[in-house]
Amino acid sequence: MKNRILFINPPSDYFIHIPMGTFGLSDYLNRTGFKSMILNLSLYEANDLGKHLDQCINDFSPSYVGIMLHWQESIEGFIWTGEYIKKKYNDIKIVCGGFTAGYFGENLLKKFRFLDVLIKGDPEKPLELLLEGEDYQNIPNIIYRSKNEIFSNRITYYIDESTLSNISFCNLDLLFDYDKYISLLEKGLGFPLFVGRGCVNNCSYCGGSSKSYRLHSERTKPVFRSFDSIMSDLKKLDKYTNKVYICYDLNRDFIKGLFREIINDKNLKNKFILNYGAWALLDEEFLVLYKDAFCFSANRRPVIELSPEVFDDDVRKQIKGSNNYYSIDELIENINLINSIFDKNIYISLYFSRYHEGIDTFMKIRREIADIYKLKNEILMSNKLNVVIRYDHLSTDVGSTYWEKYISNPYDVDTLVSGFKVIKTHQYHSFPYNNICLFIPEKIKFEEILKSEKIIFLLR
Ligand code: SF4
Repeated sequence: MKNRILFINPPSDYFIHIPMGTFGLSDYLNRTGFKSMILNLSLYEANDLGKHLDQCINDFSPSYVGIMLHWQESIEGFIWTGEYIKKKYNDIKIVCGGFTAGYFGENLLKKFRFLDVLIKGDPEKPLELLLEGEDYQNIPNIIYRSKNEIFSNRITYYIDESTLSNISFCNLDLLFDYDKYISLLEKGLGFPLFVGRGCVNNCSYCGGSSKSYRLHSERTKPVFRSFDSIMSDLKKLDKYTNKVYICYDLNRDFIKGLFREIINDKNLKNKFILNYGAWALLDEEFLVLYKDAFCFSANRRPVIELSPEVFDDDVRKQIKGSNNYYSIDELIENINLINSIFDKNIYISLYFSRYHEGIDTFMKIRREIADIYKLKNEILMSNKLNVVIRYDHLSTDVGSTYWEKYISNPYDVDTLVSGFKVIKTHQYHSFPYNNICLFIPEKIKFEEILKSEKIIFLLR
C-alpha cells in the first residue's frame, strides 16, 4: 500500500488555528498521489483527545503523521501528541515542521525520541519524496534520525510561484470535522486566505520577519501566489463560508491588484466579508477598492486591524523599522479616513502590547500605560465607538530578534518548554498573562512589574 500521511495540529489552549500552509501541503500531496488528511486537535475537549486521535488513525491508517509545530504555543500539545502516537502506534513514522520546528532543528530530535524526521523550510517536495520512499540522505530540507544518530541534509528546496499557485489552500474536505472548525473561525476573523510566504521587514518581536525566516526556513525572499489561484480558492471557499481574513500585507500594490480582479469578477464581487490585518496605514485608493470588492453593512461589519504595538513614536520606529512606520497622530488621521470611507460600518482594532525593548524602565512603562488609556478615552469621547484598543502581553516569538537577544539558551527547546510552564503555573508572577510573554526588560524590577500590571488591571 502507498504511504499516506495524517497532519495533526496539536491541541493548544491558545490557538485553534491550523497553520495555513497545512491545507496547501495536504492538497499538494493528494495531487501527487499520496493520500493525506488533517486533524485539528485544538477543536476538541482535553478529555476526548485520545479518542479522536485513535479514531482518525484507525479510520485513515496513516503510515506517517506530520505534527505541525509552527506556533510556539503548540509546544506542549506537540509533545503530548508525539508521545501518545509513539507509545500506541510504534509503526507510524513521526515527522514535524513549521517555524518553531525549523528554528530548533536538530535540538528537537535530540530532545524528543518520538520524532523521526524534521522538515526545515518548505515541506512540499521533501514530503513527497519521503512518501515515495526515497532514501533519507537524498531528501532536501530534512533532519532525521537513523540508527541513533541525527543527520542534517542541506536546504536546497524552495517552492516556486508556479507550484504555490497550482495548489489549493482551502480544500476543507481534507480536514476532519471541518464544520466545527469553520463555525469557530466564523466567530472570529474568518478563514485565513493564503497569499504568500516570507517577509522583507524586521519587526524585532516577530517570528515571521525576514531575519527569522532565514533562521527557521533559510528563506531569503518572499514568494507570492498568483491572483488566479487566490481567486479560485475564494470560489471554492464559497460553499463553506463567506468570511475571510488576510494578514499578508507585504505588498500593497499586489493586494490592490487582487481587489481589482475581485471587483471585475461577478462571482466574487461583494460576496465575502474580508477582515484585514494591515501592516501599515491604509491609503484612500486601497480603502475604496476594499469597499468595492467586499461586502459590508451596519449588521456585518468587517474588521481592520492595525498594530502600533507601542505608543512611543521613537520606540515604534526602533522596533518596527522605518518601512511601515507611522506616528500616533498619523494613525488617528487614518482612523478618520477609514471611518469616512466606510461610514463607520467597520470595526477598527488597534493592538498595543507589552513588554518591549525601549520601554525598559518603570517610568517609561507608566508613561505608556497612561498614554494608551488616554488615547482610549479620547477615542471614546470623540464617539468613535467602532474603534477597539487592546493592550496585551506580547508573545515572545521563537526566532524573533527579542528571542535571540534576550532569552538565554535560545536554541534549546527546553527554554521554550520551561518558559511555557513558568507562565502557565504563575511561577514568578501571580497575574495572568494573555500570551507566552517571556521577555520583560531586566531593568524593570519585580515590584514594578506587579505595580504596572495592577494599574492596567484597575484601568480595565
Ligand atoms: S510583524 Fe513585521 S516582520 Fe512580522 S510579518 Fe508583519 S511586517 Fe513582517
